[in-house]
Amino acid sequence: MTRLSSPAHLRQVRTGNMHAVLVAMLDGPASRAELAQRTGLTKATVASLVEPLLGQRILAEGAVVNAGRGRPSRPLRFAATGPVAIGAEINVRHLGVTVQRLDASTEFERRIEVDNCRATAADIVTRLADLIRTAIAACGRDPLGIGLAVPGIVQDGAVVHTPNVPSLNGIHLGDQLAAELGRPGTTVAVDNEANLAALAHVWPHRLAGDDFVYVSGDVGIGAGIVIGGAMFRGRSGFAGELGHVIIERTGHPCPCGSRGCVEQYAGLDAIFQAAGKRDLAALLLALDHGDPRALAAVETASAALGAALAALINICDIETVVLGGSYAALFDHIAPGVHTELDTGVLAATRRPIHLTTSAFGRAAVTRGAAALITRRHCLEPNLLLPPGRRQ
Ligand SMILES: [Zn+2]
Repeated sequence: MTRLSSPAHLRQVRTGNMHAVLVAMLDGPASRAELAQRTGLTKATVASLVEPLLGQRILAEGAVVNAGRGRPSRPLRFAATGPVAIGAEINVRHLGVTVQRLDASTEFERRIEVDNCRATAADIVTRLADLIRTAIAACGRDPLGIGLAVPGIVQDGAVVHTPNVPSLNGIHLGDQLAAELGRPGTTVAVDNEANLAALAHVWPHRLAGDDFVYVSGDVGIGAGIVIGGAMFRGRSGFAGELGHVIIERTGHPCPCGSRGCVEQYAGLDAIFQAAGKRDLAALLLALDHGDPRALAAVETASAALGAALAALINICDIETVVLGGSYAALFDHIAPGVHTELDTGVLAATRRPIHLTTSAFGRAAVTRGAAALITRRHCLEPNLLLPPGRRQ
């Protein structure tokens, strides 16, 4: 048992206080006195905690501000040249990367269209490593780590089920990516893309409330379910497989092995095929011109997606749905049909309307959330930000 006055206990308290200071800083620039107010710590404690964060250029001091009758103060903010994390994404038809600071401000963002569906895992990792090297060169400093999003189920760092990018099945992507980058010690944390996009709406700020479902719509459809501000993953990480909810038992076959999955009606490829369009830009143009075939394809997709979401909400009693991925671009076209299904299919909708919204991050939500996986860990365990000799 740790004694209250023991060095181990004091270190624990100091680490907890530093965590509190970093989290308080996420609410915006603040003087030491304001930080004391936000955290409930004494000014002297805040001053002693801030010193190593300034020394490591994690925080920076602004110019002196004379605020009324009080003593002049120098507001602290996260340093523009401070630590960064990388968020990366492998999806069916694109790769993406975001470089993000601890306060979630973005320093670099890029997305390239590439067909990963038929590519080998080695080719995908090589291309992604090139993209990450470009990002590291652009920001000019080594990242704290890399969060990597994949369109599938991840268990213990291994991709275990990714029907739309089959070459990734069974691959330990983190190890392969670190080796390909020539940075074998780099932390690479791999997770499902919808879960990570949902995380972008939880950390550092709760942008969609405490209870919501983030729906990631591309070729596949995934959902990140957040309950009480925490991700609901299920027993083995399979929670949120919205795309494989069966809406027609004798319907179209799905790469997952089942039939009639919602993905076969509301997934991007299903919409393109029904609309007779090759890509999102062509589909949006056709919708804007009132093309009947495109409108019918989107109507079918909206009804299928709405039916699957209604089933999910009837079970989880969630009040907010965030539509992301390509659904963000299609929001104005699909939201009315989804709303209709939710209004008729969700029991609770008669008492409380379901809030249907789109992600403020557009198609970048996944890489933002992947980076947040790393920045959140470092804010919660601030010792990771300090060199070994300066840790608490
Ligand atoms: Zn399926």
